Amino acid sequence: MTSLLRTGPTVPFLDLRAQHTELRADLDAAALRVLHSDRLVLGPEVEGFEHAWAATAGARHAVGVASGLDALTLALRAVGVGPGDEVVVPAHTFVATWLSVVHVGAVPVPVDADPVSGAWDPAAVEAAVTPRTTALVPVHLYGHPLDLDPLLAVAGRHGLAVVDDAAQAHGARVGRRPVGSGARATAWSFYPGKNLGAVGDGGAVTTDDPQVAGRVRSLRNYGSTTKYRHDEVGWNSRLDELQAALLTVKLRHLEEWNARRRSVAARYDAALGGLPDLLLPATAPGTEPSWHLYVVRTPHRDALQAHLTACGVGTVVHYPVPPHRQPAFAGTAAAAADLPGADRWSAQVLSLPMGPHLTADHQDHVLRSVQEFRP
Ligand SMILES: *Cc1c(COP(=O)(O)O)cnc(C)c1O
Repeated sequence: MTSLLRTGPTVPFLDLRAQHTELRADLDAAALRVLHSDRLVLGPEVEGFEHAWAATAGARHAVGVASGLDALTLALRAVGVGPGDEVVVPAHTFVATWLSVVHVGAVPVPVDADPVSGAWDPAAVEAAVTPRTTALVPVHLYGHPLDLDPLLAVAGRHGLAVVDDAAQAHGARVGRRPVGSGARATAWSFYPGKNLGAVGDGGAVTTDDPQVAGRVRSLRNYGSTTKYRHDEVGWNSRLDELQAALLTVKLRHLEEWNARRRSVAARYDAALGGLPDLLLPATAPGTEPSWHLYVVRTPHRDALQAHLTACGVGTVVHYPVPPHRQPAFAGTAAAAADLPGADRWSAQVLSLPMGPHLTADHQDHVLRSVQEFRP
């Protein structure tokens, strides 16, 4: 059924099935290889994927875990963050960034997003550091990579660890440096909708530090590196063989898929620039985003979203309620904080369809639909 307003195709926000159709034969073969193997947990598929992922991220080590949230949590624990510590986090991010801090017993201390650029100002981050601060968790939100150098300088002055949240930044770069190198540890998610997604949950930690890598290996496996000897209180958070095998197939296409995302972003930029009350995503000079999401901002967000829905264009708000306003954080110090930047972003952001399989026709329909919008 089509509504009277509808002219044109229905454009899904993201078409995951197209990914799997493109690689069907290889994915089928990988899945069957695991099904008929006798190493089902922490076997050759995970090991192979870890090597490939470390190389892509420009890090010495990669350790596969069960999800992006677990990657953050285990990385924080592995660099020594624990009960009573404070960890500086962005106010505008997916809630998992904050949850990981709570899961190691620490307290998330939000630093607001710049209301205009959304950037995390290193001076504001430094101002949030107290004697109890032990780590900073910058987030490469929407796939726009942050330059870690100024944050590493802050961390160096105060003896802090930097653990970056790269769940949206597979393949993004600052200059020639890929996201995944530079911080003490980097946390990745392979949730299906990410630029590199499993067929289910998955995650990884990358690091150059063999001690951090070893600690994550132990923590993901009951705090154990020798069977039935438990050196610390760990988790069961392993990337499974099936997901690792499928991720290995998809990883070979990440670069090309990111290039296709870049060309979609370039078309959107060219066609939507200069429309009234519509801010396009800003790319910092010298950076190459992964274009996980293409996020516009407008004071007429809800009306624009309703118009696009009526036009058959799928959109998503990333994210409608900032972490400090979530019931999960009610009663905490962060809930009482004044974070106007995060509030404004959550009220104004809208993610347009984006992905490597968005056809030219669908892109045209998205662009026409946005151009037609009158608040
Ligand atoms: C997806 C995501 C996570 C969490 O990853 P999961 O694999 O879903 O647990 C963390 N941080 C950000 C910024 C994300 O987008």
